[in-house]
Amino acid sequence: MDCLFCSISKGEIPSYTVYQDEHAVAFLDIHPLAPGHTVVIPRVHSATILDFPEAEMEPFLKGVKTVTALLQRTLNPDGFTMGINHGIVSGQSVSHLHFHIIPRWNNDKGGSLHSVVHNTPKESVEEIAERISDGA
Ligand code: ZN
Repeated sequence: MDCLFCSISKGEIPSYTVYQDEHAVAFLDIHPLAPGHTVVIPRVHSATILDFPEAEMEPFLKGVKTVTALLQRTLNPDGFTMGINHGIVSGQSVSHLHFHIIPRWNNDKGGSLHSVVHNTPKESVEEIAERISDGA
């Protein structure tokens, strides 16, 4: 399989790796939105969270937490914006699940996650809640 992030995980392609363990690898985004903008990937290949093995979830999220603590300790940001671009429509550019950790500083001119999408639903929240809970 030809996957950029699998190649980085195996060390076949160099990266600015800042942390790695048995389950996760963290490296600096080469197009950083902020100093220390880090991408954490699981070693197991999955395109998205929907096909990611459940057994890998906990160790992967532990890696995310460890990297967040590392960035906090070394760069001392005022906060973080964290998240996953899930699917091409959301801006996922590599089809290997990855978690962005973006350090935030006061007055860095960034917005919150609420500034990412502006697609106010036509249905009421109640109607959508029913639709979702009916399918659970
Ligand atoms: Zn991969």
